[in-house]
Amino acid sequence: MADKFDVIVIGAGPGGYVAAIRAAQLGLKTACVEKWIGKEGKVVFGGTCLNVGCIPSKALLEASHKFVEAKHDFADMGIQAGDVSMDVKKMMARKDTIVKNLTGGIAGLFKANGVTGIEGTGKVVGAKQVEVTDQDGKATTYEADNIVIAAGSVPVEIPPTPLTEGLIVDSTGALEFQEVPKRLGVIGAGVIGLELGSVWSRLGSEVTVLEAMDSFLPMVDSAIAKETQKLLKKQGLDIKLGARVTGSEVKGQEVVVKYTDSDGEQEMTFDKLIVCVGRRPYTRGVVADGVGVGLDERGFIHVDDQCRTSVPGVYAIGDCVRGQMLAHKASEEGIMVADIIAGHKAEMNYDAIPCVIYTFPEVAWVGMTEQDAKAKGIEVKTGSFPFAASGRAMANNATEGQAKIIADAETDRILGMHIVGQHAGEMIAQGVIALEFGSSAEDLALTCYAHPTMSEAVHEAALAVEGHAIHMANRKKRK
Ligand code: FAD
Ligand code: AMP
Repeated sequence: MADKFDVIVIGAGPGGYVAAIRAAQLGLKTACVEKWIGKEGKVVFGGTCLNVGCIPSKALLEASHKFVEAKHDFADMGIQAGDVSMDVKKMMARKDTIVKNLTGGIAGLFKANGVTGIEGTGKVVGAKQVEVTDQDGKATTYEADNIVIAAGSVPVEIPPTPLTEGLIVDSTGALEFQEVPKRLGVIGAGVIGLELGSVWSRLGSEVTVLEAMDSFLPMVDSAIAKETQKLLKKQGLDIKLGARVTGSEVKGQEVVVKYTDSDGEQEMTFDKLIVCVGRRPYTRGVVADGVGVGLDERGFIHVDDQCRTSVPGVYAIGDCVRGQMLAHKASEEGIMVADIIAGHKAEMNYDAIPCVIYTFPEVAWVGMTEQDAKAKGIEVKTGSFPFAASGRAMANNATEGQAKIIADAETDRILGMHIVGQHAGEMIAQGVIALEFGSSAEDLALTCYAHPTMSEAVHEAALAVEGHAIHMANRKKRK
Protein backbone atom coordinates (compact mmCIF):
# COMPACT_ATOMS: atom_id res chain seq x y z
CA MET A 1 0.00 0.00 0.00
CA ALA A 2 1.34 3.42 -0.97
CA ASP A 3 0.83 6.78 0.77
CA LYS A 4 -2.28 7.59 2.77
CA PHE A 5 -4.08 10.90 2.18
CA ASP A 6 -6.87 12.84 3.85
CA VAL A 7 -8.32 13.54 0.39
CA ILE A 8 -7.74 12.04 -3.04
CA VAL A 9 -9.35 13.87 -5.95
CA ILE A 10 -9.81 11.99 -9.24
CA GLY A 11 -9.59 14.42 -12.16
CA ALA A 12 -7.77 17.76 -12.38
CA GLY A 13 -10.28 19.83 -14.34
CA PRO A 14 -11.70 23.05 -12.84
CA GLY A 15 -13.74 20.92 -10.42
CA GLY A 16 -10.94 18.64 -9.28
CA TYR A 17 -7.93 20.95 -9.22
CA VAL A 18 -9.86 23.63 -7.33
CA ALA A 19 -11.13 21.04 -4.80
CA ALA A 20 -7.58 19.77 -4.31
CA ILE A 21 -6.06 23.24 -3.82
CA ARG A 22 -8.79 24.26 -1.38
CA ALA A 23 -8.46 21.01 0.60
CA ALA A 24 -4.69 21.51 0.87
CA GLN A 25 -5.18 25.14 1.92
CA LEU A 26 -7.42 23.88 4.72
CA GLY A 27 -4.59 21.71 6.02
CA LEU A 28 -5.66 18.38 4.52
CA LYS A 29 -3.06 16.04 3.02
CA THR A 30 -4.30 15.99 -0.57
CA ALA A 31 -3.54 14.24 -3.84
CA CYS A 32 -5.05 14.80 -7.28
CA VAL A 33 -4.97 12.06 -9.92
CA GLU A 34 -4.98 12.98 -13.61
CA LYS A 35 -4.60 10.98 -16.80
CA TRP A 36 -4.99 13.59 -19.57
CA ILE A 37 -2.10 13.34 -22.04
CA GLY A 38 -1.26 16.74 -23.53
CA LYS A 39 0.14 17.54 -26.96
CA GLU A 40 3.68 16.93 -25.73
CA GLY A 41 2.89 13.37 -24.67
CA LYS A 42 2.95 14.14 -20.94
CA VAL A 43 0.15 14.24 -18.36
CA VAL A 44 -1.30 17.75 -18.06
CA PHE A 45 -3.66 19.23 -15.50
CA GLY A 46 -6.65 21.47 -16.26
CA GLY A 47 -9.14 19.03 -17.79
CA THR A 48 -11.54 19.90 -20.57
CA CYS A 49 -11.70 23.56 -19.57
CA LEU A 50 -8.02 24.37 -20.03
CA ASN A 51 -7.12 21.84 -22.72
CA VAL A 52 -10.06 21.70 -25.14
CA GLY A 53 -12.84 23.84 -23.69
CA CYS A 54 -13.32 27.28 -22.17
CA ILE A 55 -9.82 28.64 -22.69
CA PRO A 56 -8.83 27.51 -26.21
CA SER A 57 -12.30 28.38 -27.52
CA LYS A 58 -12.04 31.87 -26.06
CA ALA A 59 -8.56 32.32 -27.54
CA LEU A 60 -10.02 31.60 -30.99
CA LEU A 61 -13.15 33.69 -30.38
CA GLU A 62 -11.05 36.69 -29.37
CA ALA A 63 -8.65 36.35 -32.31
CA SER A 64 -11.45 35.89 -34.85
CA HIS A 65 -13.40 38.82 -33.40
CA LYS A 66 -10.38 41.09 -33.63
CA PHE A 67 -9.96 39.95 -37.24
CA VAL A 68 -13.56 40.98 -38.04
CA GLU A 69 -13.07 44.31 -36.30
CA ALA A 70 -9.87 45.00 -38.21
CA LYS A 71 -11.38 43.94 -41.51
CA HIS A 72 -14.80 45.51 -41.26
CA ASP A 73 -15.19 47.84 -38.29
CA PHE A 74 -11.93 49.77 -37.94
CA ALA A 75 -12.71 51.87 -41.01
CA ASP A 76 -15.83 53.27 -39.23
CA MET A 77 -13.46 54.71 -36.63
CA GLY A 78 -11.12 56.16 -39.20
CA ILE A 79 -8.51 53.43 -38.90
CA GLN A 80 -7.07 52.34 -42.25
CA ALA A 81 -5.75 48.85 -41.65
CA GLY A 82 -5.01 47.96 -45.26
CA ASP A 83 -5.28 44.37 -46.38
CA VAL A 84 -6.17 42.34 -43.32
CA SER A 85 -5.58 38.61 -43.39
CA MET A 86 -5.56 35.80 -40.85
CA ASP A 87 -2.68 33.40 -40.34
CA VAL A 88 -4.69 30.45 -39.00
CA LYS A 89 -1.60 28.48 -37.98
CA LYS A 90 -0.34 31.42 -35.92
CA MET A 91 -3.75 31.86 -34.31
CA MET A 92 -3.67 28.15 -33.36
CA ALA A 93 -0.10 28.37 -32.08
CA ARG A 94 -1.07 31.30 -29.82
CA LYS A 95 -4.01 29.25 -28.49
CA ASP A 96 -1.67 26.31 -27.81
CA THR A 97 0.76 28.56 -25.94
CA ILE A 98 -2.04 29.87 -23.73
CA VAL A 99 -3.15 26.30 -22.99
CA LYS A 100 0.42 25.24 -22.21
CA ASN A 101 1.00 28.18 -19.86
CA LEU A 102 -2.24 27.60 -18.00
CA THR A 103 -1.94 23.83 -17.64
CA GLY A 104 1.67 24.28 -16.49
CA GLY A 105 0.37 26.90 -14.07
CA ILE A 106 -1.85 24.32 -12.36
CA ALA A 107 1.18 22.11 -11.77
CA GLY A 108 2.82 25.18 -10.18
CA LEU A 109 -0.23 25.84 -8.01
CA PHE A 110 -0.24 22.21 -6.83
CA LYS A 111 3.38 22.55 -5.81
CA ALA A 112 2.84 25.88 -4.07
CA ASN A 113 -0.14 24.56 -2.13
CA GLY A 114 1.33 21.17 -1.29
CA VAL A 115 -1.03 19.09 -3.45
CA THR A 116 0.53 15.81 -4.62
CA GLY A 117 -0.15 15.37 -8.34
CA ILE A 118 -0.41 11.70 -9.28
CA GLU A 119 -0.22 10.78 -12.96
CA GLY A 120 -2.43 7.93 -14.10
CA THR A 121 -5.98 6.64 -14.26
CA GLY A 122 -7.76 6.62 -10.92
CA LYS A 123 -10.42 4.16 -9.87
CA VAL A 124 -12.34 4.05 -6.61
CA VAL A 125 -11.89 0.44 -5.50
CA GLY A 126 -13.21 0.82 -1.95
CA ALA A 127 -14.85 3.50 0.22
CA LYS A 128 -11.36 4.63 1.20
CA GLN A 129 -9.17 3.27 -1.59
CA VAL A 130 -8.12 4.61 -4.97
CA GLU A 131 -6.17 2.50 -7.41
CA VAL A 132 -4.04 4.44 -9.90
CA THR A 133 -2.75 2.82 -13.09
CA ASP A 134 0.11 4.68 -14.73
CA GLN A 135 0.96 4.91 -18.45
CA ASP A 136 3.01 1.71 -18.22
CA GLY A 137 0.08 -0.20 -16.76
CA LYS A 138 1.51 -0.33 -13.23
CA ALA A 139 -1.21 -0.12 -10.56
CA THR A 140 -0.72 1.43 -7.12
CA THR A 141 -3.39 1.59 -4.44
CA TYR A 142 -3.62 4.70 -2.25
CA GLU A 143 -5.68 5.08 0.91
CA ALA A 144 -7.77 8.18 1.56
CA ASP A 145 -10.27 9.15 4.24
CA ASN A 146 -12.18 11.09 1.60
CA ILE A 147 -12.46 10.72 -2.16
CA VAL A 148 -13.70 13.36 -4.60
CA ILE A 149 -14.63 12.17 -8.09
CA ALA A 150 -14.25 14.98 -10.64
CA ALA A 151 -14.02 12.92 -13.83
CA GLY A 152 -15.77 15.47 -16.05
CA SER A 153 -17.46 14.87 -19.37
CA VAL A 154 -16.81 14.10 -23.04
CA PRO A 155 -18.64 15.12 -26.23
CA VAL A 156 -21.76 13.16 -27.18
CA GLU A 157 -21.50 11.28 -30.47
CA ILE A 158 -24.59 10.47 -32.50
CA PRO A 159 -25.02 7.48 -34.84
CA PRO A 160 -25.99 9.58 -37.92
CA THR A 161 -22.63 11.37 -37.94
CA PRO A 162 -19.78 9.10 -36.77
CA LEU A 163 -16.59 11.10 -36.27
CA THR A 164 -14.32 10.84 -39.32
CA GLU A 165 -10.73 12.09 -39.03
CA GLY A 166 -10.51 15.68 -40.24
CA LEU A 167 -14.01 15.76 -41.77
CA ILE A 168 -16.63 15.06 -39.11
CA VAL A 169 -15.25 16.31 -35.82
CA ASP A 170 -16.37 17.14 -32.30
CA SER A 171 -15.63 20.40 -30.46
CA THR A 172 -12.04 19.26 -29.82
CA GLY A 173 -11.45 18.73 -33.54
CA ALA A 174 -12.99 22.10 -34.36
CA LEU A 175 -10.35 23.79 -32.19
CA GLU A 176 -7.63 22.29 -34.40
CA PHE A 177 -8.58 23.17 -38.00
CA GLN A 178 -5.44 24.39 -39.74
CA GLU A 179 -7.33 26.17 -42.50
CA VAL A 180 -10.71 27.81 -42.90
CA PRO A 181 -13.28 25.38 -44.32
CA LYS A 182 -15.33 26.86 -47.16
CA ARG A 183 -18.62 25.22 -46.19
CA LEU A 184 -18.95 24.35 -42.52
CA GLY A 185 -21.85 22.46 -40.97
CA VAL A 186 -22.51 22.59 -37.23
CA ILE A 187 -24.96 20.20 -35.60
CA GLY A 188 -26.51 21.76 -32.51
CA ALA A 189 -27.28 25.42 -31.78
CA GLY A 190 -26.24 25.15 -28.14
CA VAL A 191 -23.54 27.24 -26.48
CA ILE A 192 -20.58 25.35 -27.95
CA GLY A 193 -22.08 25.09 -31.46
CA LEU A 194 -22.73 28.83 -31.62
CA GLU A 195 -19.28 29.73 -30.33
CA LEU A 196 -17.39 27.43 -32.71
CA GLY A 197 -19.68 28.33 -35.61
CA SER A 198 -18.92 32.00 -34.91
CA VAL A 199 -15.15 31.48 -34.91
CA TRP A 200 -15.10 29.92 -38.37
CA SER A 201 -17.82 32.12 -39.81
CA ARG A 202 -15.78 35.20 -38.84
CA LEU A 203 -12.77 33.76 -40.62
CA GLY A 204 -14.75 33.24 -43.81
CA SER A 205 -16.59 29.89 -43.64
CA GLU A 206 -20.17 29.68 -44.87
CA VAL A 207 -21.67 28.28 -41.69
CA THR A 208 -24.95 26.37 -41.43
CA VAL A 209 -26.15 25.37 -37.98
CA LEU A 210 -28.64 22.50 -37.91
CA GLU A 211 -30.71 22.42 -34.72
CA ALA A 212 -33.34 19.76 -34.02
CA MET A 213 -35.42 21.92 -31.68
CA ASP A 214 -37.88 24.49 -33.01
CA SER A 215 -36.89 27.03 -30.39
CA PHE A 216 -33.61 28.94 -30.22
CA LEU A 217 -31.76 29.07 -26.88
CA PRO A 218 -34.82 28.08 -24.82
CA MET A 219 -32.91 28.62 -21.56
CA VAL A 220 -32.51 32.33 -22.34
CA ASP A 221 -35.30 34.91 -21.94
CA SER A 222 -37.19 34.85 -25.23
CA ALA A 223 -36.68 38.59 -25.93
CA ILE A 224 -32.92 38.16 -25.57
CA ALA A 225 -32.86 34.86 -27.50
CA LYS A 226 -34.82 36.42 -30.35
CA GLU A 227 -32.46 39.37 -30.60
CA THR A 228 -29.43 37.04 -30.44
CA GLN A 229 -30.79 34.93 -33.28
CA LYS A 230 -31.31 38.07 -35.38
CA LEU A 231 -27.80 39.35 -34.67
CA LEU A 232 -26.10 36.03 -35.44
CA LYS A 233 -28.09 35.72 -38.66
CA LYS A 234 -26.96 39.20 -39.66
CA GLN A 235 -23.36 38.07 -39.14
CA GLY A 236 -23.91 35.25 -41.61
CA LEU A 237 -24.71 32.23 -39.43
CA ASP A 238 -27.48 30.31 -41.16
CA ILE A 239 -29.29 28.78 -38.19
CA LYS A 240 -31.88 26.21 -39.28
CA LEU A 241 -34.26 25.35 -36.45
CA GLY A 242 -36.42 22.21 -36.49
CA ALA A 243 -33.69 20.51 -38.55
CA ARG A 244 -32.87 17.06 -37.15
CA VAL A 245 -29.79 15.40 -38.59
CA THR A 246 -30.57 11.81 -39.55
CA GLY A 247 -27.57 10.66 -41.55
CA SER A 248 -24.32 11.52 -43.27
CA GLU A 249 -22.09 10.22 -46.00
CA VAL A 250 -18.43 11.00 -46.54
CA LYS A 251 -17.71 11.45 -50.24
CA GLY A 252 -14.02 12.10 -50.82
CA GLN A 253 -13.24 15.30 -48.97
CA GLU A 254 -16.92 16.29 -48.54
CA VAL A 255 -19.63 15.36 -46.09
CA VAL A 256 -23.21 15.04 -47.26
CA VAL A 257 -25.56 15.56 -44.34
CA LYS A 258 -29.17 14.41 -44.35
CA TYR A 259 -31.68 16.11 -42.12
CA THR A 260 -35.43 16.41 -41.79
CA ASP A 261 -37.34 19.62 -41.31
CA SER A 262 -40.96 20.71 -41.75
CA ASP A 263 -40.57 20.34 -45.53
CA GLY A 264 -39.35 16.73 -45.24
CA GLU A 265 -35.98 15.18 -46.11
CA GLN A 266 -33.15 17.60 -46.90
CA GLU A 267 -29.50 17.31 -47.82
CA MET A 268 -26.52 19.66 -47.54
CA THR A 269 -22.86 19.24 -48.46
CA PHE A 270 -20.06 20.55 -46.29
CA ASP A 271 -16.27 20.58 -46.31
CA LYS A 272 -16.27 19.99 -42.57
CA LEU A 273 -18.92 19.08 -40.04
CA ILE A 274 -18.77 19.81 -36.30
CA VAL A 275 -20.94 17.69 -34.03
CA CYS A 276 -21.94 19.80 -31.00
CA VAL A 277 -24.93 17.94 -29.60
CA GLY A 278 -23.97 18.10 -25.95
CA ARG A 279 -21.67 16.35 -23.50
CA ARG A 280 -22.06 13.24 -21.39
CA PRO A 281 -20.54 12.37 -18.00
CA TYR A 282 -17.26 10.49 -18.24
CA THR A 283 -17.83 8.01 -15.46
CA ARG A 284 -17.40 4.58 -17.00
CA GLY A 285 -14.83 2.60 -14.99
CA VAL A 286 -14.11 5.32 -12.45
CA VAL A 287 -15.76 3.34 -9.64
CA ALA A 288 -15.29 -0.43 -9.25
CA ASP A 289 -18.39 -2.59 -9.11
CA GLY A 290 -19.61 -3.20 -5.62
CA VAL A 291 -18.32 0.04 -4.07
CA GLY A 292 -21.89 1.32 -3.95
CA VAL A 293 -21.59 4.70 -5.69
CA GLY A 294 -24.85 5.07 -7.62
CA LEU A 295 -25.08 6.29 -11.22
CA ASP A 296 -28.26 7.45 -12.91
CA GLU A 297 -29.49 6.10 -16.25
CA ARG A 298 -27.46 8.71 -18.18
CA GLY A 299 -24.23 7.89 -16.35
CA PHE A 300 -24.19 10.87 -13.97
CA ILE A 301 -22.98 10.02 -10.47
CA HIS A 302 -25.90 10.38 -8.12
CA VAL A 303 -25.23 13.05 -5.45
CA ASP A 304 -27.20 15.11 -2.93
CA ASP A 305 -27.24 18.93 -2.79
CA GLN A 306 -23.80 18.90 -1.18
CA CYS A 307 -22.26 16.47 -3.67
CA ARG A 308 -22.23 13.44 -1.35
CA THR A 309 -22.58 10.13 -3.19
CA SER A 310 -24.35 7.15 -1.67
CA VAL A 311 -21.05 6.08 -0.01
CA PRO A 312 -19.97 8.10 3.06
CA GLY A 313 -16.69 9.94 2.44
CA VAL A 314 -17.03 9.71 -1.35
CA TYR A 315 -18.08 12.91 -3.13
CA ALA A 316 -18.57 13.76 -6.81
CA ILE A 317 -18.53 17.20 -8.45
CA GLY A 318 -18.61 19.05 -11.77
CA ASP A 319 -19.70 17.74 -15.15
CA CYS A 320 -19.99 14.14 -13.91
CA VAL A 321 -22.93 15.06 -11.64
CA ARG A 322 -26.32 16.73 -12.16
CA GLY A 323 -26.58 20.42 -12.99
CA GLN A 324 -25.14 22.75 -15.56
CA MET A 325 -21.96 21.65 -17.30
CA LEU A 326 -19.94 24.77 -16.54
CA ALA A 327 -16.41 25.25 -15.26
CA HIS A 328 -17.36 27.71 -12.52
CA LYS A 329 -20.14 25.42 -11.28
CA ALA A 330 -17.57 22.59 -11.05
CA SER A 331 -15.11 24.83 -9.17
CA GLU A 332 -17.71 26.06 -6.69
CA GLU A 333 -18.72 22.48 -5.98
CA GLY A 334 -15.03 21.67 -5.46
CA ILE A 335 -14.71 24.41 -2.88
CA MET A 336 -17.93 23.37 -1.14
CA VAL A 337 -16.82 19.75 -0.87
CA ALA A 338 -13.33 20.63 0.40
CA ASP A 339 -14.92 22.86 3.04
CA ILE A 340 -17.32 20.10 4.10
CA ILE A 341 -14.47 17.57 4.35
CA ALA A 342 -12.53 20.05 6.51
CA GLY A 343 -15.50 20.19 8.85
CA HIS A 344 -16.95 23.53 7.78
CA LYS A 345 -20.57 24.22 6.91
CA ALA A 346 -20.90 24.84 3.19
CA GLU A 347 -23.59 24.94 0.55
CA MET A 348 -24.13 26.22 -2.98
CA ASN A 349 -26.82 28.39 -4.46
CA TYR A 350 -27.68 26.57 -7.66
CA ASP A 351 -30.17 29.33 -8.54
CA ALA A 352 -27.41 31.88 -8.98
CA ILE A 353 -25.04 30.29 -11.50
CA PRO A 354 -24.32 32.57 -14.45
CA CYS A 355 -24.16 31.28 -18.03
CA VAL A 356 -22.38 33.03 -20.89
CA ILE A 357 -22.19 32.47 -24.63
CA TYR A 358 -19.04 34.15 -25.90
CA THR A 359 -20.35 35.13 -29.31
CA PHE A 360 -20.28 38.76 -30.36
CA PRO A 361 -22.17 40.26 -28.78
CA GLU A 362 -22.04 38.01 -25.73
CA VAL A 363 -25.18 36.50 -24.27
CA ALA A 364 -25.26 36.15 -20.49
CA TRP A 365 -27.92 35.25 -18.03
CA VAL A 366 -28.63 34.26 -14.48
CA GLY A 367 -31.86 33.21 -12.81
CA MET A 368 -35.31 32.97 -14.30
CA THR A 369 -36.57 34.06 -17.68
CA GLU A 370 -39.83 35.96 -17.82
CA GLN A 371 -41.33 32.81 -19.32
CA ASP A 372 -39.99 30.57 -16.47
CA ALA A 373 -41.47 32.87 -13.85
CA LYS A 374 -44.86 33.02 -15.54
CA ALA A 375 -44.91 29.23 -15.97
CA LYS A 376 -44.34 28.99 -12.20
CA GLY A 377 -47.31 31.30 -11.60
CA ILE A 378 -45.14 34.17 -10.36
CA GLU A 379 -46.38 37.60 -11.32
CA VAL A 380 -43.45 39.61 -12.65
CA LYS A 381 -42.49 43.08 -13.75
CA THR A 382 -39.63 43.56 -16.16
CA GLY A 383 -37.33 46.34 -17.26
CA SER A 384 -35.26 46.39 -20.45
CA PHE A 385 -32.76 48.83 -21.85
CA PRO A 386 -31.27 48.75 -25.36
CA PHE A 387 -27.56 49.32 -25.85
CA ALA A 388 -28.53 51.52 -28.81
CA ALA A 389 -29.39 54.16 -26.19
CA SER A 390 -26.08 53.82 -24.30
CA GLY A 391 -23.43 56.47 -24.84
CA ARG A 392 -20.62 54.04 -24.07
CA ALA A 393 -22.04 51.47 -26.49
CA MET A 394 -22.02 54.14 -29.22
CA ALA A 395 -18.44 55.09 -28.39
CA ASN A 396 -17.52 51.39 -28.47
CA ASN A 397 -19.25 50.80 -31.81
CA ALA A 398 -21.30 48.11 -30.02
CA THR A 399 -24.90 49.31 -29.92
CA GLU A 400 -26.50 45.92 -30.51
CA GLY A 401 -28.39 44.13 -27.78
CA GLN A 402 -30.24 44.87 -24.58
CA ALA A 403 -30.26 44.19 -20.84
CA LYS A 404 -33.40 42.83 -19.18
CA ILE A 405 -34.28 42.41 -15.54
CA ILE A 406 -37.11 40.20 -14.32
CA ALA A 407 -38.43 41.06 -10.84
CA ASP A 408 -41.21 39.74 -8.64
CA ALA A 409 -44.20 42.06 -9.11
CA GLU A 410 -45.11 41.95 -5.45
CA THR A 411 -41.77 42.05 -3.64
CA ASP A 412 -39.58 43.69 -6.34
CA ARG A 413 -36.97 40.96 -5.68
CA ILE A 414 -34.79 40.30 -8.74
CA LEU A 415 -35.52 36.85 -10.16
CA GLY A 416 -33.37 36.98 -13.27
CA MET A 417 -31.10 39.07 -15.46
CA HIS A 418 -30.60 38.33 -19.15
CA ILE A 419 -28.32 40.35 -21.40
CA VAL A 420 -27.15 40.30 -24.99
CA GLY A 421 -24.45 42.88 -25.63
CA GLN A 422 -20.74 43.57 -25.65
CA HIS A 423 -19.18 42.43 -22.34
CA ALA A 424 -22.47 40.82 -21.19
CA GLY A 425 -20.35 38.09 -19.59
CA GLU A 426 -18.73 40.67 -17.31
CA MET A 427 -21.95 42.59 -16.62
CA ILE A 428 -23.85 39.48 -15.53
CA ALA A 429 -21.82 39.36 -12.29
CA GLN A 430 -24.12 42.16 -11.13
CA GLY A 431 -27.12 39.89 -11.60
CA VAL A 432 -25.39 37.06 -9.74
CA ILE A 433 -24.60 39.35 -6.80
CA ALA A 434 -28.15 40.73 -6.87
CA LEU A 435 -29.58 37.19 -6.67
CA GLU A 436 -27.09 36.16 -3.95
CA PHE A 437 -27.94 39.21 -1.85
CA GLY A 438 -31.70 38.95 -2.50
CA SER A 439 -31.64 42.46 -4.00
CA SER A 440 -34.69 44.26 -5.28
CA ALA A 441 -34.74 45.99 -8.65
CA GLU A 442 -34.92 49.22 -6.63
CA ASP A 443 -31.59 48.34 -4.94
CA LEU A 444 -29.91 48.40 -8.36
CA ALA A 445 -31.92 51.45 -9.45
CA LEU A 446 -30.63 53.35 -6.39
CA THR A 447 -27.01 52.33 -7.00
CA CYS A 448 -24.54 54.79 -8.54
CA TYR A 449 -22.97 53.43 -11.73
CA ALA A 450 -19.83 54.82 -13.35
CA HIS A 451 -20.43 56.79 -16.54
CA PRO A 452 -19.93 56.01 -19.33
CA THR A 453 -20.02 52.22 -18.95
CA MET A 454 -21.88 49.38 -20.63
CA SER A 455 -23.15 48.47 -17.14
CA GLU A 456 -25.27 51.60 -17.11
CA ALA A 457 -27.67 49.56 -19.26
CA VAL A 458 -28.21 47.28 -16.24
CA HIS A 459 -28.88 50.35 -14.10
CA GLU A 460 -31.33 51.69 -16.66
CA ALA A 461 -33.03 48.27 -16.95
CA ALA A 462 -33.48 48.32 -13.15
CA LEU A 463 -34.95 51.83 -13.39
CA ALA A 464 -37.16 50.64 -16.26
CA VAL A 465 -38.76 48.02 -14.00
CA GLU A 466 -40.79 50.92 -12.57
CA GLY A 467 -40.94 52.75 -15.88
CA HIS A 468 -38.31 55.26 -14.80
CA ALA A 469 -35.42 54.71 -17.20
CA ILE A 470 -33.76 58.06 -17.83
CA HIS A 471 -32.35 57.64 -21.32
CA MET A 472 -35.36 55.97 -22.90
CA ALA A 473 -38.97 56.82 -23.64
CA ASN A 474 -40.61 54.59 -21.02
CA ARG A 475 -43.44 52.25 -21.76
CA LYS A 476 -44.90 52.69 -18.32
CA LYS A 477 -46.37 55.81 -16.76
CA ARG A 478 -44.62 57.47 -13.85
CA LYS A 479 -46.27 56.81 -10.50
P1 FAD B 1 -13.26 18.26 -16.84
O1 FAD B 1 -12.78 19.64 -17.12
O2 FAD B 1 -13.82 17.47 -17.93
O3 FAD B 1 -12.07 17.51 -16.12
C1 FAD B 1 -12.14 16.18 -15.76
C2 FAD B 1 -10.74 15.64 -15.69
O4 FAD B 1 -10.78 14.36 -15.09
C3 FAD B 1 -10.08 15.45 -17.05
O5 FAD B 1 -8.84 16.07 -17.05
C4 FAD B 1 -9.95 13.94 -17.19
O6 FAD B 1 -8.79 13.54 -17.91
C5 FAD B 1 -9.85 13.53 -15.74
N1 FAD B 1 -10.25 12.15 -15.50
C6 FAD B 1 -11.41 11.54 -15.83
N2 FAD B 1 -11.44 10.29 -15.40
C7 FAD B 1 -10.25 10.08 -14.77
C8 FAD B 1 -9.68 8.98 -14.12
N3 FAD B 1 -10.34 7.83 -14.02
N4 FAD B 1 -8.44 9.11 -13.60
C9 FAD B 1 -7.76 10.29 -13.71
N5 FAD B 1 -8.26 11.37 -14.30
C10 FAD B 1 -9.48 11.26 -14.83
N6 FAD B 1 -17.61 26.09 -19.37
C11 FAD B 1 -17.66 27.35 -18.91
O7 FAD B 1 -17.99 27.55 -17.74
N7 FAD B 1 -17.33 28.42 -19.71
C12 FAD B 1 -16.97 28.26 -21.00
O8 FAD B 1 -16.68 29.24 -21.69
C13 FAD B 1 -16.92 26.94 -21.52
N8 FAD B 1 -16.53 26.74 -22.79
C14 FAD B 1 -16.43 25.46 -23.26
C15 FAD B 1 -16.03 25.28 -24.57
C16 FAD B 1 -15.90 24.01 -25.08
C17 FAD B 1 -15.46 23.81 -26.51
C18 FAD B 1 -16.15 22.88 -24.24
C19 FAD B 1 -15.98 21.48 -24.76
C20 FAD B 1 -16.56 23.05 -22.93
C21 FAD B 1 -16.72 24.35 -22.43
N9 FAD B 1 -17.13 24.59 -21.12
C22 FAD B 1 -17.24 25.87 -20.66
C23 FAD B 1 -17.48 23.48 -20.21
C24 FAD B 1 -16.34 23.22 -19.22
O9 FAD B 1 -15.17 22.91 -19.93
C25 FAD B 1 -16.71 22.07 -18.29
O10 FAD B 1 -17.95 22.36 -17.67
C26 FAD B 1 -15.66 21.90 -17.22
O11 FAD B 1 -14.40 21.61 -17.77
C27 FAD B 1 -16.06 20.79 -16.24
O12 FAD B 1 -15.07 20.65 -15.27
P2 FAD B 1 -14.82 19.26 -14.54
O13 FAD B 1 -13.68 19.50 -13.62
O14 FAD B 1 -16.08 18.74 -13.99
O15 FAD B 1 -14.41 18.24 -15.69
P1 AMP C 1 -26.03 21.74 -25.86
O1 AMP C 1 -26.51 20.51 -25.12
O2 AMP C 1 -26.44 23.04 -25.24
O3 AMP C 1 -24.58 21.69 -26.18
O4 AMP C 1 -26.79 21.73 -27.25
C1 AMP C 1 -26.80 20.64 -28.12
C2 AMP C 1 -27.89 20.88 -29.15
O5 AMP C 1 -27.81 19.86 -30.16
C3 AMP C 1 -29.30 20.80 -28.56
O6 AMP C 1 -29.93 22.03 -28.79
C4 AMP C 1 -29.95 19.66 -29.32
O7 AMP C 1 -31.31 19.92 -29.63
C5 AMP C 1 -29.12 19.58 -30.62
N1 AMP C 1 -29.18 18.26 -31.29
C6 AMP C 1 -29.03 17.04 -30.71
N2 AMP C 1 -29.13 16.04 -31.65
C7 AMP C 1 -29.36 16.65 -32.85
C8 AMP C 1 -29.56 16.20 -34.20
N3 AMP C 1 -29.54 14.89 -34.53
N4 AMP C 1 -29.77 17.12 -35.18
C9 AMP C 1 -29.76 18.45 -34.88
N5 AMP C 1 -29.59 18.93 -33.64
C10 AMP C 1 -29.39 18.08 -32.62
